[in-house]
Amino acid sequence: MTDNNIEKVLIIGSGPAGWTAALYTARATLTPLVYEGSAPNLPGGQLMITSDVENYPGFPEGVLGPELMEKFKAQAERFGARVVTENIASVDFNQRPFVATSESGTEIKAHTVIIATGANAKLLGIDKEKEIIASGAGVSACATCDGAFYKDVDVAVVGGGDSAMEEANFLTRYAKSVTIIHRREGFRASKIMVDRAQNNPKIKWELNQEVAELLTEKQGIMNNDTLVAVKTKNTQTGEEKEIPFQGLFVAIGHSPTTGLFKDYLSFDDKGYIKTLGQSAKTEIEGVFACGDVQDSYYRQAITASGSGCMAAIDAERYLEGKGL
Ligand code: NAP
Repeated sequence: MTDNNIEKVLIIGSGPAGWTAALYTARATLTPLVYEGSAPNLPGGQLMITSDVENYPGFPEGVLGPELMEKFKAQAERFGARVVTENIASVDFNQRPFVATSESGTEIKAHTVIIATGANAKLLGIDKEKEIIASGAGVSACATCDGAFYKDVDVAVVGGGDSAMEEANFLTRYAKSVTIIHRREGFRASKIMVDRAQNNPKIKWELNQEVAELLTEKQGIMNNDTLVAVKTKNTQTGEEKEIPFQGLFVAIGHSPTTGLFKDYLSFDDKGYIKTLGQSAKTEIEGVFACGDVQDSYYRQAITASGSGCMAAIDAERYLEGKGL
């Protein structure tokens, strides 16, 4: 911290981008303050709900997502990063130093802010979806978190990207069968992931289908609306049918977590924070963005980490340039 309780670097969000920004700014002796988030946000980001990470260099046998994030955090803390497990509720980028206010009302003044708030799972936007997700009664956006609850039953995964393929394969560890419901015949997923799913005897396919309705019955001690089947609609013919499933996993991509910044920054046509050229700089001098909140294209742990490093270096140079 500098004089008058002004932070040199405030990092909002954790995950590969936030922790790498923290590591680099900590090693530059800027003693960053990291607001790592708390529920409903996920400290550590999306890797906290991932199982095996096989494509992060340096781990030839793979590494569990949460374990990788613990290591990132420990490495940043080793060099002096300070961590608060709380959400930031609002920011004011019109003042300098910038002001951020936490959910418990703590006001933080900072010369630079690094935004690393990541992205959240997209939902289908159909009736009952959110309610059933909240009650855990048959719909989920996270196979890694909830897959084990669906032992020996028939489940479905919606989507045609790498996430859908990965989740479907993962779910075959538990479920009797896993049906991939996808609105087209072509896949956004990489060939290796599609091949793996196609070679898995427990995986079935419903292509050119979209989920039109969640069919439920009141079940359990809480008498919750519980998923018993899905009504699908053929995207070519409009024909509808009902398929019994006890679980539906939505794996249709993610939206960046940008709500806090909507009054201050510009966003691309997909809603991701715009950064300038090959940098982590936003249009506000001193505010930087890194990781999935500004990258709709690569969205990998390693690229998020790389952009966290860029944000740290940009922040460090900005502070140096301003004599701060
Ligand atoms: P994605 O690549 O954007 O794929 C989203 C899928 O959901 C698409 O097939 C899309 O269909 C479908 N979809 C989107 N909105 C829908 C809706 N409203 N109703 C029905 N279907 C809908 O997202 P992702 O699979 O989450 O992957 C994101 C990034 O993470 C990618 O870069 C991916 O490579 C990466 N990733 C990598 C791994 C890995 O390497 N192990 C694992 C997971 C993710 P259309 O194709 O018709 O648009």
